[in-house]
Amino acid sequence: MRDPAALDAQDALGYLRERFLLPDSTVYLDGNSLGVLPAAVPARLEQLLREEWGCDLISSWNRHDWIGMPIRVGEKIAALVGAGPGQVLCCDSISLNLFKLLTTALQLRPGRSVILSQRDNFPTDLYLAEGISDLLGDARCTLRSVPLEQLAGAMNSEVAVLMLTQVNFRDGSLHDVQALTRAAHAQGILVLWDLAHSAGVLPIQLDAWEVDMAVGCGYKFLNGGPGAPAFVYLAERHQNQVSQPLSGWLGHAQPFAFEPDYRPAPGIRRYLAGTPGILGMAALDTALDCFEGVSMAALRAKSLALSTYFIEGIGEDLAAGELRLLTPREGARRGSHVALAHPHAWGVSQALIEAGVIVDFREPDVVRFGFAPLYNSFADVACAIQRLRHILASEQYRDARFRQRPQVT
Ligand SMILES: *Cc1c(COP(=O)(O)O)cnc(C)c1O
Repeated sequence: MRDPAALDAQDALGYLRERFLLPDSTVYLDGNSLGVLPAAVPARLEQLLREEWGCDLISSWNRHDWIGMPIRVGEKIAALVGAGPGQVLCCDSISLNLFKLLTTALQLRPGRSVILSQRDNFPTDLYLAEGISDLLGDARCTLRSVPLEQLAGAMNSEVAVLMLTQVNFRDGSLHDVQALTRAAHAQGILVLWDLAHSAGVLPIQLDAWEVDMAVGCGYKFLNGGPGAPAFVYLAERHQNQVSQPLSGWLGHAQPFAFEPDYRPAPGIRRYLAGTPGILGMAALDTALDCFEGVSMAALRAKSLALSTYFIEGIGEDLAAGELRLLTPREGARRGSHVALAHPHAWGVSQALIEAGVIVDFREPDVVRFGFAPLYNSFADVACAIQRLRHILASEQYRDARFRQRPQVT
């Protein structure tokens, strides 16, 4: 294995770690679940609380442009996902935004009723489609979730929208967004991409790839903090044709006219429903400044260098024991986390966390190692390998204290 200190010394992005507050003793490899606290966020929230909310009170909606935040923060995110202006809005959770976009897609494709997805897509995506099907009835909406190998064959004239996640949350495998989008369009199918595990770590070109719709997460690689608002993208060519059913007042053309009838706002703003959570969005707004002056290509290159270093570093352990690599070895086919399967995955993950290497566990037998190129170092990876090796060799994962499972894994 190459010396991690030498690799860190050559890392042109190493200086970015200072933009974050990371406990010294912690190796944090879970930025794909909850990003790290950016150093500038506490001061921004303090100022927001004491000055904007504390002193300027309700006038802050205008004076500090709270009302414009969903659009303003949306535009910052747009720059990271290759979207031109007027197409991205920061609001709500991915789950709610999926509801808005899936119902939009069904309206844009009357006569087609199928939402096509992958069986191992992230559950909330599938659950939302089920909920819409229950609400509208099978004739208007049916979820068809198929194994990956059957996706291409399932694209037909019954399908209104293909809903996929770019990077699989469990095994870290990466879809070719452009190719799948093209294949869907050839059948008249709209595409909705979930960018939860890719926004902020992969170069994404929503406009150039002619993606129709997308959603993404504010609290993973964008580091917006627990429960930070998500985002929604709708290509300009699809805007203003249909409305969305969460027709709340802030998506109205004139919310402060207080009209009794709904008239949707023009453009992306009609995808707002209710009052945005300003505290959470302000944290995300400031967190996004961590990307200043950094290219997505450079972040992607570092992310791949980190995950490759990890996979190569555990090569012997993979060959020798019960550990299995679920993530594709080929860099171009994986996102920014590496998934390892182990019969005692829960115990392995808990022993790692106890040893200061924060990873997470996913059912049924997966330990995930997330590599966030903004703040992770090669030294982090080397430390994770060394501690993992010790845990496997000592079989610490069998310890009785690792049997308890809390509510959140
Ligand atoms: C994390 C994640 C979500 C989260 O959805 P919320 O409704 O924002 O909690 C959705 N989809 C995928 C693929 C995810 O990884």
